[in-house]
Parts: sequence; C-alpha cells; structure tokens
Amino acid sequence: MRNDLWLKNRLEYLWGNHFPDVERKNNIHIGFKGNWKNKFGHIKKKGIDSEIIVNGYFKKDVVPDYIIDLTIAHELVHYMHGFNSPYPRLFKHPHKGGIVNKELKKRGFKVHIKDERRWIKEVWRTIMKEDFKEKRIRPSLSNWFRF
Ligand SMILES: [Zn+2]
Repeated sequence: MRNDLWLKNRLEYLWGNHFPDVERKNNIHIGFKGNWKNKFGHIKKKGIDSEIIVNGYFKKDVVPDYIIDLTIAHELVHYMHGFNSPYPRLFKHPHKGGIVNKELKKRGFKVHIKDERRWIKEVWRTIMKEDFKEKRIRPSLSNWFRF
C-alpha cells in the first residue's frame, strides 16, 4: 500500500528526471485523496502554493506505478503551462488540442501513454465494475480522467 511519502518521492524523482528544466517557483504539496472512478488527479492553487492530488484508490498495488507517474507528470505539465501555478498561462484551456500529451511525449512518456490506454480498457474498467459497482461504463480516454 502506497502512502503520501511515497508519492512525494515519486514527484521528486519525476521532476529530476523528466522536468529538470522547469523551475520550481512555489511550494508544491502532493497527496492521495478521495476514491474516484472517473478522476485520476488534479492540480489546485492553495494560497501561494500548488497542490497535486492523486486518486486515493491509487494507493493500491493493483494500480501500476506508471499510471501514478503519468498522473503526476500530467499535473506538472499543467504547472509549467501556468495552470494553478505561478507561471504565466500559456494557453486558454488546459487540455486544448492535446497539449498535455504532446508535452508528455516529448518528455519520455510515450510508451506509458500507450500502455495506459490498454490498462484503462482492460483493468480499470474491471475495477469500476467490481469495486465501484458501475453498470454503465464509458469509453476509455485517459485525458478525461485528469484535470
Ligand atoms: Zn489535465
């Protein structure tokens, strides 16, 4: 079972290895919260700090590390694009024209994005059925799950 310290270490690892050029302009908090079937994570402003939240369900080992990495990396792209961060806002909408995945691909997450599509279809949908008792399951598209 993962915890908030594990998540914090993951954030540091990803920042150092995939976002070394992105300057940290404020404090960034990260933690697990909620237990959501249709939201993997989000980034919010908390006073002058930023806060990244990852779906509490992802503490479970059944969720692979790379799904959490992608969630954190997705929110870091929002951070560098100026959404809920001190950076100037570069775009009108945070997901316009697939800008997040474009940036993620440039930063070495291309294989993860591809693997995730299959994981959502094959595993997450089963989790929704079994753990969330969801009867009607929407088509899978990773970007719908992150804000
Ligand atoms: Zn997003």
